[in-house]
Amino acid sequence: MKEGFISRISGPVVIADAMRGSKMYDVVRVGREALAGEIIRLDGDLAVIQVYEDTNGLEIGEPVINTYQPLSVDLGPGLIASIYDGVQRPLPLLLERSGNFISRGIAVPGIDRNKKWEFSSLVKPGDAVSPGTPLGEVKEYHIRHLILVPPGISGTVKGIDSGSFSVEEPICVLHDETTISMMQKWPVRKGRPYKKKLDPTVPLITGQRIFDSLFPLTKGGTAMIPGGFGTGKTVSEQTLAKWADAQIIIYIGCGERGNEMTDVLSEFPELVDPRTGLPLIQRTILIANTSNMPVAAREASIYTGITIAEYYRDMGYDVALMADSTSRWGEALREVSGRLEEMPGEEGYPAYLATRLAAFYERAGRVVCLGSDDRVGSVTVVGAVSPPGGDFSEPITQNTLRITGTFWALDTNLAYRRHFPSVNWIKSYSLYLDSLQEWYIREIGPDWKELRDRIMYLLQKEVELQEIVQLVGPDALPESEKAILEVTRMIREDFLQQSAYSDTDSYCALDKQYWMLKTIHRYDSGITNAIGKGVSLKQVGALPLRAEIARMRELGSIEEIRALGDRIEAQLSALEVEQ
Ligand code: ADP
Ligand code: MG
Repeated sequence: MKEGFISRISGPVVIADAMRGSKMYDVVRVGREALAGEIIRLDGDLAVIQVYEDTNGLEIGEPVINTYQPLSVDLGPGLIASIYDGVQRPLPLLLERSGNFISRGIAVPGIDRNKKWEFSSLVKPGDAVSPGTPLGEVKEYHIRHLILVPPGISGTVKGIDSGSFSVEEPICVLHDETTISMMQKWPVRKGRPYKKKLDPTVPLITGQRIFDSLFPLTKGGTAMIPGGFGTGKTVSEQTLAKWADAQIIIYIGCGERGNEMTDVLSEFPELVDPRTGLPLIQRTILIANTSNMPVAAREASIYTGITIAEYYRDMGYDVALMADSTSRWGEALREVSGRLEEMPGEEGYPAYLATRLAAFYERAGRVVCLGSDDRVGSVTVVGAVSPPGGDFSEPITQNTLRITGTFWALDTNLAYRRHFPSVNWIKSYSLYLDSLQEWYIREIGPDWKELRDRIMYLLQKEVELQEIVQLVGPDALPESEKAILEVTRMIREDFLQQSAYSDTDSYCALDKQYWMLKTIHRYDSGITNAIGKGVSLKQVGALPLRAEIARMRELGSIEEIRALGDRIEAQLSALEVEQ
């Protein structure tokens, strides 16, 4: 084992001497307390190390030991419902061992080594296996956890047993005497292999009307949620974690205030999955690296998260990863880079910020899994971005928007007016619209595209009309354009607004979204026809329809919404011109 010594300490960064022979990204133990760290630069005998724990009290000359292992996570049964720090140490265990103030140098395994799992084999002696072949399965809560042959191993099964095993016990031996256990380690900075990437043709349904109906995300796609302070980034990420139609959720609380994470930690175990009736935590893995925890571990947290996501993807699951906030991750990168005295790029971020961001988001995707022709899994990534002062021109926002497919721009003015979700419908976009169109038309309704296009047209038209109104007052507009403003107000208030806290409306099924849109559209057409006949907007306003449409989101069945649409049509077409 290689032993060097500390020659310099600068915050989370330590320089060690006598480290020749080390490799980039080797994990090292720093100082007498053996703090965990990772080599991020090599220069002759010197190794620059980012340390995942608080470096206070470290002294020059203390030993540094290279483990020659890359920073890796434990993958196997026992991940679900875990709460980890950025380097996969279970937080509840850390707290139990060291009290509220996490002490240093504690090595706690990412998954429980003692717990026994009921393994049932899916192959038999003589079977040929290769990377990705399911050897068997265990039940992890309600999840069928496949034990796959790890990448790099293949051969013929010599022996395999069903029964009760801990994660390190061998469950399978190959003819060449290779043993396979249920746990594998994987270096977090390296994407796990898959067979083939698929086109983004299936939506990730979120139950949020503005996302699903206007700016959809795909399974395997990437989305960013930029927004200033208090615009609803955390609420959006948490809402997605609750409602997205993925089988596994990875939630990374990255550098945000500790109390926000406490909310997640205390609220999550209580929540029930509306689709399965089971506790939501049973499909969730939480990674918490709040602002009071070491900055380098925050840098690692998104890699820890996405590696676990890929592991479940490989079993054929749809996994959604939420990162709140990637800006705090970028700041960690900036802080470490600053300590290295690297030439700073824009706003002090390192020049490799863009490459790092791209490499992270690139690990999203819907894929055919290794070792199979029909096992399809996906990793969807939704990153919140917190630009200082809500100014989207800053580097993290700009670099992220070049690589993500969906841009959900949160708006300070909308949040201020308590229009939630505060997604700005003019600035936001989804690059997946075309590739999803077929799915929406097939699954939701043949006129889905016309409906969406019409809604977007009206919302854009509204901006134009509002400018005119501001200049010359509402009376200058003809009735037909005043009618547009009436319809767009309805779209904004009765369709786009959706409270994350409503019992009846925090989730809105896709067919309900469609029928709500359709109803507004029927109102839109009805009013246009009526005005064409010479009916006045005042007459339309006298009908009780508006209040009914405002309650549409509370209606429980599609039938009721459809019936409302019928009444709208009947009442509007019955209007006669007043003499
Ligand atoms: P950020 O993370 O962007 O700083 P938060 O997600 O904490 O902002 O949201 C701030 C507040 O805005 C929340 O406490 C909540 O009152 C309100 N809010 C945000 N999104 C919604 C929503 N979808 N429905 C209802 N209220 C919301
Ligand atoms: Mg927040």
